[in-house]
Amino acid sequence: MTTPAPASPDLPHATVSPRTLAVSAGRPARTAGGSVNPPVVLTSTFVSQGAPAAGEHLYGRMGTPAWEPFEEALAVLERADHLATGRPADGPPATVFASGMAAIDATLALVPVGGRVVVPRHAYQVTLVLLREQAERGLLRVDQVDVADTEAVLATLRGRDGDAPAAMLWLESPTNPMLEVADLPVLIAAAHDVGALVVVDSTFATPLLQRPLAHGADVVVHSVTKYLAGHSDVVLGATVTDSPALHARLVGHRTTHGAIAGPFEVWLALRGLRTLALRVERAQHNAAELARRLDAHAHVVEVRYPGLPADPGHDRARAQMDGFGAILGLRPVGGPAGADALVAAVRLWVPATSLGGVESTLERRRRFATESPTVPEDLVRLSVGIEDVEDLWADLSAALDAAAGV
Ligand SMILES: *Cc1c(COP(=O)(O)O)cnc(C)c1O
Repeated sequence: MTTPAPASPDLPHATVSPRTLAVSAGRPARTAGGSVNPPVVLTSTFVSQGAPAAGEHLYGRMGTPAWEPFEEALAVLERADHLATGRPADGPPATVFASGMAAIDATLALVPVGGRVVVPRHAYQVTLVLLREQAERGLLRVDQVDVADTEAVLATLRGRDGDAPAAMLWLESPTNPMLEVADLPVLIAAAHDVGALVVVDSTFATPLLQRPLAHGADVVVHSVTKYLAGHSDVVLGATVTDSPALHARLVGHRTTHGAIAGPFEVWLALRGLRTLALRVERAQHNAAELARRLDAHAHVVEVRYPGLPADPGHDRARAQMDGFGAILGLRPVGGPAGADALVAAVRLWVPATSLGGVESTLERRRRFATESPTVPEDLVRLSVGIEDVEDLWADLSAALDAAAGV
C-alpha cells in the first residue's frame, strides 16, 4: 500500500472536530485540475515485476487504492482526540472488510488458540454465534458477562478457579439490542492489567459519539453497513487500531482469508461518511424526542435509551460519549404478540433488520432464534432515521394504539 494522502496539508487532524474530519479526510492530494473525490479504482492487478517494493500495489486482494481513502478517513476520525489524550495521532489506516462479520472474524483471530474471551451476554447475535462456533472447535473459550456490571466483568477477566486471565475483552457499547453501556475506561485498563487485548464494537456509537482508542482500546470494530455508510445500500466492515503490529495481522488475515470489499461499496461508504455528522445528529435528535414521548405513552411498558435520565446507562454514557445515539429499545403492551402487531401496523417506519440508515426501521429481535434468550421476547429495536420527527411520532403512536387494540 502507498501512504494515503493526508486529509489536507492545512488541516492537522487532531485539532479538527470529527464533524469536519468526516468531510475533509481521505481526499486526494490537491492539484490543479485534480478531482475532489477519489476515483473508483477497478483493477484486480497492478503493473509490477521483480521483488516488490515496500507498499507497492500488486494484486487486488492484497491492497488497492479503492480502499485507501476510506481507510484513511475512518482512522483519522477514530483518532480525532488523540493529541488531547496524549496518544500519537499518526498510526495505521483502518482496514476495510467485506462485512462487519468479516472484520469481527479477523479480530477474533488475534486470540491465541485456547485463549479465553470475555464477551457481553447481549451483543450482536452473530458475533456470539461465531464465538460459540469457534469455542466448539476448541479455538477459544468464551465467558459471557453483563457488561454493565463492572465488578462481574473484572472478576471474569481475572479468571476463576485457577483459570488463566482472559486473552481478550470483547466489548460492545452500547450493546445490541439491549443498549447497555460498559464503563470503557475502567474495563479497558483492567483488561490491560491482566494482559488481555481489548476490542470495542463501536457500531452503535460511530466515531462521532465515542472514540474507544482514546480510552486505550486496542482495536475498534465497525459494521460499516450501518451508520458509517448510512444509506442501507452496502454491507461492509472495518477495524481500526493504533498498533502497527495488530494492523499487520488484521491485513494479513484479510489477505489470506479473502473477505475483501468491492471498490464500489467502499466508494459508497466514503460518500456516506461525508454526511455522518448531519445524519447522526438529526437521527439522535429524533431519537431523544421519541424516547421522551414513548416513555409517557399509555401502551408502552418500557423504553431503553441511554439518553433518558432514568436509563441505567445514562450517567456512564454521558461521561464517555458525545451523544446517546439513535437506537431505542421499546417494549409495547401485549407481550410478543403486541410487539409483532406494532411492527405490522407501522406505515412510514420500515419493518426490517439492520440499523443506522437514513430511514427509520424497527423489528422484534427475538423473532430470530439466535438472539440471546435474556433479551425480552417483546423487545422491539428501533433505528431512528432522519425523517421529520412529527411524522415518525404520528406513525409510531398510531401503530402503538392499533397494536393495543384501541
Ligand atoms: C450489524 C452489526 C454487526 C455485523 O455487521 P455486518 O456488516 O452485518 O456483517 C456487528 N456488530 C454490530 C453491533 C452490528 O449492529
